[in-house]
Amino acid sequence: MREKQKKPSLIEAISINLKASKEISRVCPGLFSSLAAANALEAVNNYLFIFITARLLNELVGQCRVGKLIQWAVFGAIAALIVELIVRYFHRRSQLLEEVSGEAIERLYMEKLFSMDFADVDKHSTHDLLAQIRQNERSVGFGFGAVPGILSDIIYSLTSVLSGIGLTVSLFTSKVTADGPLRLLNSPFIILAAVLILMGISYLAGTLNKKAESNWTHGKELSAKSNRVRDTFVKLGRSVLGAADIRLYRQEKIALNHIRSEDAYGPGGAVDKLVLSNVGVLFGLSQGGQMLFTGGAYVLICLKALGGAFAIGSVTQYAGALALANFTVFNLFGAAGRLTANASYLKTANRFFEIPNLMVQGTIPTEKRNDREYDVEFRDVSFKYPGADTWALRQLNVRFKVGARYAVVGENGSGKTTFIKLLCRLYDPQEGQILLNGIDIKKYDYREYMDLFSVVFQDFQLFSQPLGANVAGSADYDAGRVKTALEEAGFGERLKELPQGLDTCLYRDFGDDGINISGGEAQKIAIARALYKNAPFLILDEPTAALDPIAEADIYAHLGGIVGDRTAIFISHRLSSCRFCDEILVFDAGRIVQRGSHEALVSDKNGRYSAFWQAQAQYYKEDR
Ligand code: ADP
Repeated sequence: MREKQKKPSLIEAISINLKASKEISRVCPGLFSSLAAANALEAVNNYLFIFITARLLNELVGQCRVGKLIQWAVFGAIAALIVELIVRYFHRRSQLLEEVSGEAIERLYMEKLFSMDFADVDKHSTHDLLAQIRQNERSVGFGFGAVPGILSDIIYSLTSVLSGIGLTVSLFTSKVTADGPLRLLNSPFIILAAVLILMGISYLAGTLNKKAESNWTHGKELSAKSNRVRDTFVKLGRSVLGAADIRLYRQEKIALNHIRSEDAYGPGGAVDKLVLSNVGVLFGLSQGGQMLFTGGAYVLICLKALGGAFAIGSVTQYAGALALANFTVFNLFGAAGRLTANASYLKTANRFFEIPNLMVQGTIPTEKRNDREYDVEFRDVSFKYPGADTWALRQLNVRFKVGARYAVVGENGSGKTTFIKLLCRLYDPQEGQILLNGIDIKKYDYREYMDLFSVVFQDFQLFSQPLGANVAGSADYDAGRVKTALEEAGFGERLKELPQGLDTCLYRDFGDDGINISGGEAQKIAIARALYKNAPFLILDEPTAALDPIAEADIYAHLGGIVGDRTAIFISHRLSSCRFCDEILVFDAGRIVQRGSHEALVSDKNGRYSAFWQAQAQYYKEDR
């Protein structure tokens, strides 16, 4: 739905729509210039025909000079040909660009989603807002997607009105030459009164049209729910999953009843009622006003022609130009109505685009050190997820020794992954500070700080792209280093089997030549990607969860060598894999309740770690 706030003024609406058009131009260059050229020239073209016809008629009923007639005819034909060629060229181009503009607008949303703070991507409110914007675009037809159409209408109508005025100025200035009461039409006051009356009627008809358009927009909003209900059931009808239930329980009756009861367009539906009352009456009155204008204009033209103010050819010019201009004034008001309505929807869309990036405000570059002496410390850090009542982490104090290996253990939900997310600055803590070499990490350049971490999260993401590009995170990569990383992560043997090697595409989203990989293989590739990044911190969150026991043992056997001089943090539910770590942090309900080496923690018989260890002891015997 659109913003439930004061309706924007016309000036505000123009500014909001123009700002949106600038954004669309950025991802779809050439769209608005082509639309402007095509629409403006098309509007002029209509008047060109009226103008040339009037010149020919005037010559025919006047002096009837053959040379002049040929001159006007040739000029008319050449001018029409040139304008038509240009109009067609820009029309074709703008049609093409309009077709791709939907995808380009989608890219605007994607760019924003990719660049916004992780905490915002993770919020329900962000996704609700996005769903609302999509619903507005699809069901009501307003938002960014409506901007090209509305601006085209306005350019066309404005050019048309201005051209019409240009061709009718002489209607008001030309003098009646015959004697008699028609001479009164030479009085500037009478002409001014005629102009004002015509403008008044045109304005009134236009305003009624604008009101009708705006109420019609509201009507489309009323149909949004009906569209949603229909779409949901259509999708359900196509789905194989629900097909059995629908048959067994005759669920189609519920569906059809629901569709009927929500049908906004059917007889007696919300939209039908609106058309029968308010919208229908307003449209009718505005059309009536238009007819009144045309009638009034014809009376003036005929009277002046009778008084000898101009020849018969000019009568066709004025009548044609005024009728056309009046029609486009009418459209202009309609377009202005849609422009104002669209501004409300754009405000909703802008709420999404204006979600601030709070994370990127730091400016200090991180030190570029070969010795990897990056000292990170959590000082009294507490954190709650947005909208949550309970603390996910409470008063954490940890200082990572450079080059040491840490294990993070604890029950599900004890805060291990959250701890890592804060360390990489996907979230900022509400209390306490995280420091890098003594400086609050918020003060560092966000991207540079993130560059310090190679992380494999449990829900890591690989793309349907070549293997090499997946590991390097880029299409340009050092093939030797990518291979080494894959070998270190345990993917070496599988790589040898791939005929296209690093060029093998993962998954089959874009073609049949891709390969499907198992969860374990994907995890190895994700580990290789972390190794290729070669950041000073290597963090693996349940790195072997999807691996079979042999692959897991293999990874852990090599982990010491793989980690090298990096500071490493492993989250693992298998305590046996933590034994090689220098320090183990035991999490419980968001706090670190125990820390120390494996031996020290196991010997503390009352501690949590010892309890976990005992519980898993059976496991390890089997492992061994
Ligand atoms: P662990 O990694 O130890 O299983 P997490 O760090 O994932 O634990 O979760 C810690 C707590 O935070 C849990 O209570 C979990 O439900 C909650 N939590 C995790 N992710 C989110 C989230 N995105 N939004 C709200 N709460 C979350």
